[in-house]
Amino acid sequence: MTIALGFALAIVIGLLAYRAGALDGSGAIAATAVGTAVFATQGWVGATVLLAFFIPASALSHLSRRAAVDGEQNARRNAAQVLANGGIAAVCAVGAAAIGPPFAAGFAGAFAAAAADTCATEIGMRFGGAPVSLVNFRRVAAGRSGGVTIAGTLASVAGAAIVAAIASAFHLAPFRAVAVGGVAGAVADSLLGATLQSVRWCPVCRCECEASRHFCGSATSLRRGVGWIQNDAVNVAATLCGAIVTMLALRSP
Ligand SMILES: [Zn+2]
Repeated sequence: MTIALGFALAIVIGLLAYRAGALDGSGAIAATAVGTAVFATQGWVGATVLLAFFIPASALSHLSRRAAVDGEQNARRNAAQVLANGGIAAVCAVGAAAIGPPFAAGFAGAFAAAAADTCATEIGMRFGGAPVSLVNFRRVAAGRSGGVTIAGTLASVAGAAIVAAIASAFHLAPFRAVAVGGVAGAVADSLLGATLQSVRWCPVCRCECEASRHFCGSATSLRRGVGWIQNDAVNVAATLCGAIVTMLALRSP
C-alpha cells in the first residue's frame, strides 16, 4: 500500500470513528497518524490487525459505563489515549519495514495486548461483578485500574486470541506468540494498575478517581501510587510488554 493510500484510508477510519463518537478531534488526528504508519508499512494485513483491535474496542467502549464511573459526559478517546494504545504498535510497524520481521510480530503483540486490556475492562465492568486486586486480592471499585474479574480475565484471553488468530491467518506471526504476548500485556496492565498507577481522591465527593480534576470541578489529591503514572502510561507499558513478549516468544521452541 502506498503512503498516499494509507493516509487516505486512515483519514476515512478516523472520521468514521469521530462520527461514531469513539474519538474526539485530537483522537481522530492521532488515529490518522497511527493508521497511516500501519497501513503504509504493513498494508492490508496491518489494516486488518488494527481493525481487529479498533472495531471491537470502539464498540465496547461506546456501550461502556466507564462514562458513568468517571462522571464524564462522553466516552470519546483523546489523542493521548489513542497513542497510549496504538503508539507502540505503530512504532513496531515502522520497525518491521525498516529492520525486519520480528517487529511485525511485535506489532501484532502490541495490538493483542491493547485488545486484551480493553476487552477485560469493558466486559469485566459489565459482567464481572466486584473486581479484586491482582496484588493483594482486596476489592477494587468496578472500572478502576488494577482490579481483575473472572469474566474480564476470560474476555482478555479472547481479545488477545482474536488478534492472534488474524495475525497468524495472514502469516504475520505465529498464533501462540501473539496470544501469549497479548495476555502478558494485560497482566502487566493489571499489576501496574494495582501498584504504581496513581489513585486520586476527590475531597468533595469523597471518592477515588484517576483525574487530577474530578468531574465535579474540584482538584483531587494523590492517594496512592506514583503521581505521573496514570492510565495512559500504564497502557504504553502494557502494549510494550505485549510487543516484547511476542518477539521473545518467536525464539522459543
Ligand atoms: Zn468530586
